[in-house]
Amino acid sequence: MTFGRFAPSPTSDLHLGNLRTALLSWLFARDAGLGYLLRIEDLDQQRVASAPHVAEHQVRDLAALGLDWDGEVVRQSDRFDLYRDASAGLETYECYCTRREIAEASRAPHGSYRPYPGTCARLTIAERAERRRTRPAAIRVRARDAVMSVADLHAGQVSGRVDDFVLFRADGTPAYNLAVVVDDGLQGVSQVCRGADLLDSSPRQAWLASRLGFQVPQYIHVGLAVNQSGDRLAKRDGAVTLGELSSRGVGVGEVFQTLRGSAGLPAAGSPTGLLRAVAGTDWWQTPAIWQPWVVVPEL
Ligand code: GLU
Repeated sequence: MTFGRFAPSPTSDLHLGNLRTALLSWLFARDAGLGYLLRIEDLDQQRVASAPHVAEHQVRDLAALGLDWDGEVVRQSDRFDLYRDASAGLETYECYCTRREIAEASRAPHGSYRPYPGTCARLTIAERAERRRTRPAAIRVRARDAVMSVADLHAGQVSGRVDDFVLFRADGTPAYNLAVVVDDGLQGVSQVCRGADLLDSSPRQAWLASRLGFQVPQYIHVGLAVNQSGDRLAKRDGAVTLGELSSRGVGVGEVFQTLRGSAGLPAAGSPTGLLRAVAGTDWWQTPAIWQPWVVVPEL
């Protein structure tokens, strides 16, 4: 069996946009007859410590919405050894650049992501020894200007240049792009449904997946929730989490209806009912799934 998944970072409670992406990822997986996994992406232990219990809230809210998943919830913080082992055969190099140096040396950012300009790829042994004395090194993969193309259900073929992205941060923490690819590969994830903000990361991740010998998954990038100014929905945009909504008398059933309606999906009283309602149809052809969803506070 292969799987779809939802993989939240436990930095703050899930807001309506995250819940909508979760619902859609569940629906895509279950409608395709796949299993469904929940994975907590808690690589950044400092951020996790500053927001305790968020992961538990996320799991609770997803269950309250009526989603179910197969097996235990996996936490990336338990899997650092796997990321280390998986990356052992990759061609890598040490990088001593600070964020600022990268910003100064790189061309215009690509979205919020700055492709690495390759500064440390060309250091001599003497230069490397010198820098190693002053700064801890991050580890980057040597991608040799690879170009990778992925298939996205809505966006079609998406091609991107693969830069020498970070595998391990200077403090030794595995980086998101490494962990997500290793987990999806080892867990048998064949369908990656997530927010459209990650579409640009897909060629990079697919390239790494194929380097590590994993099957490249099918990608499905759905529309993001935005506020009325068109910016990504955030907690400051009002009552946007299940907890806040329920303290205003908005129950989880009403939230489900809002999410379902926002994606143009057929009438149903629960995710399981929705799964029955869409069975055998081309439900993903509805444009609302792919467009940004403008959230008006308090529903
Ligand atoms: N953990 C990532 C996030 O919350 C999502 C990763 C993914 O779905 O690939 O943005």
